[in-house]
Amino acid sequence: MTSGSISRNPVTSDIIKTSAGDVEMFFIGHGSLMFKVNDFCIHIDPVRSSGSYDNLPKADLILVTHEHYDHLDPELIADLRKEGTLMFSNGTAASEIKWAKPMAAGDVQRAGGIVIEAVPAYNIVNMRSPGQPFHPKGVGIGFILTIGGKRFYIAGDTENTPEMKALKNIHVAFLPMNLPYTMTPEMVADAARAFKPEILYPYHYGETETGKLVDLLKNTDIEIRIRDLQ
Ligand code: ZN
Ligand code: ZN
Repeated sequence: MTSGSISRNPVTSDIIKTSAGDVEMFFIGHGSLMFKVNDFCIHIDPVRSSGSYDNLPKADLILVTHEHYDHLDPELIADLRKEGTLMFSNGTAASEIKWAKPMAAGDVQRAGGIVIEAVPAYNIVNMRSPGQPFHPKGVGIGFILTIGGKRFYIAGDTENTPEMKALKNIHVAFLPMNLPYTMTPEMVADAARAFKPEILYPYHYGETETGKLVDLLKNTDIEIRIRDLQ
């Protein structure tokens, strides 16, 4: 793909080549993703109401950003668990899934040759009620996965925070784009212009017009990929 380009065809997965092998990213829907690295299977915010899990493998690793119903599905997590499955999540989700290990922003874990960093995810302007953000700072997290030298950022439910805008060396970014919970296309574009991912997937976008983001980021080197991630 060339600079500023866009692919609109709905697909079930994309492949990113890394020195550790191909990373196949499956777009299940909304905030739910699955990554396969060789035979290692990572479920990220697996939620059954977001898409079909009928033909998907069980998890070697489960990552959950926060406890909202569109990110944490305890029944599905029980179904995806097998012997040896690891789960990392924010603290609130880990208090519901007793075998999960909690992570806070700044924590680093390793599993299957993958480095997992937790980063902040929170609202600055979008409030449930005055002074009550939908996602208060210090509760939810996002993840940066380093796999074979490439860095994959799954932002969780967040706005374009200073911490996000200061990220470096992100190859692939998944940024949420729906109001009132996360970001407008303008906020996603602001973040993307700051930390310059090579490939940007808006996700968790609901009814938001994805073409707006494409317009805002034309004349940049960022490759925007629209997938079926309402
Ligand atoms: Zn949320
Ligand atoms: Zn959400």
